[in-house]
Amino acid sequence: MADEADLAFDSEQRYLNHALATRGQRSRILQPMGSCHHCGNTDGIADRLFCDVDCASDWEYEHSLRSRLGLPAATALH
Ligand SMILES: [Zn+2]
Repeated sequence: MADEADLAFDSEQRYLNHALATRGQRSRILQPMGSCHHCGNTDGIADRLFCDVDCASDWEYEHSLRSRLGLPAATALH
């Protein structure tokens, strides 16, 4: 029964890992802290940086805005 969900989760994880791996900048800045760097969610985060690719891309967007405006590096917003 759970196989489909497991597979979906697995492929999502792989996609996220791939997305993170292809954007080296994030992993140099961020360390896993047990919660999502974007929204602060702690559910199922473990040693990941974000809940999913949406949080990762939102964080990256804000981070690039901050860089452009000369603001300090982003931390969790909440
Ligand atoms: Zn999140």
